[in-house]
Amino acid sequence: MGPDRLVSIRDTVGMRLFSHLLLTQRRGLLRWRFIITAPMNAPDATARLCIACGLCCNGVLFRDVELQAADDVARLKALGLPVKHSSTTRQSHVPQPCVGLCPDNRCKMYSDRPARCREFECGLLKEVIANELDVEDALTTIRQTIRKADRVKALLWQLGNRDKHRPLGERFRRTCRIVESTELSEELGERFAELTLAVHDLNLLTHSRFYTCEESVEF
Ligand code: SF4
Ligand code: SF4
Repeated sequence: MGPDRLVSIRDTVGMRLFSHLLLTQRRGLLRWRFIITAPMNAPDATARLCIACGLCCNGVLFRDVELQAADDVARLKALGLPVKHSSTTRQSHVPQPCVGLCPDNRCKMYSDRPARCREFECGLLKEVIANELDVEDALTTIRQTIRKADRVKALLWQLGNRDKHRPLGERFRRTCRIVESTELSEELGERFAELTLAVHDLNLLTHSRFYTCEESVEF
């Protein structure tokens, strides 16, 4: 889940290109062919997709990261993660959008990130690693999903929900509760109808391409 991957990207992508160049050097001519045809391994796929995405850390796919017994809570807190504890579920978690996510989609505490973050691979990433999906097609889906999530955020903003520090699903539910208890103008009524359609549209895509059966679903 969610990338830093600076060092690993540089190492893995750099090594692949270097080996490829060696293989294409024939009869004194360098044939520059930057086409990666072999199946992508997990670090390569992560490097390409996650740096362009961040959806599993930014509150679009999940509302939090559940901490596991293996996690060093004191260390995570010292690194700046706001660890919360639920007395009802007796479960500790880190809320999303995660403060560890950098604007360029790298993880500030990559080497110390929680166990769930280490283990998580979305459906799209799994497909690329299994060589069932071309990386460019996966990137197109990521861009499409980000656009749909941005549309939901813009409509929430227009309807007065401007709390960018809350997960998207929670913001939508709050807005629904307010709308149900308020008489809306015709214009805001139309915005709300657009919002419900935009959320539905986003859900269709995230459920079909990102969630796997192991994860709980946010919206
Ligand atoms: S949702 Fe998938 S592709 Fe996007 S950052 Fe998370 S693991 Fe990577
Ligand atoms: S610690 Fe935060 S930013 Fe880093 S991988 Fe986990 S959820 Fe993403």
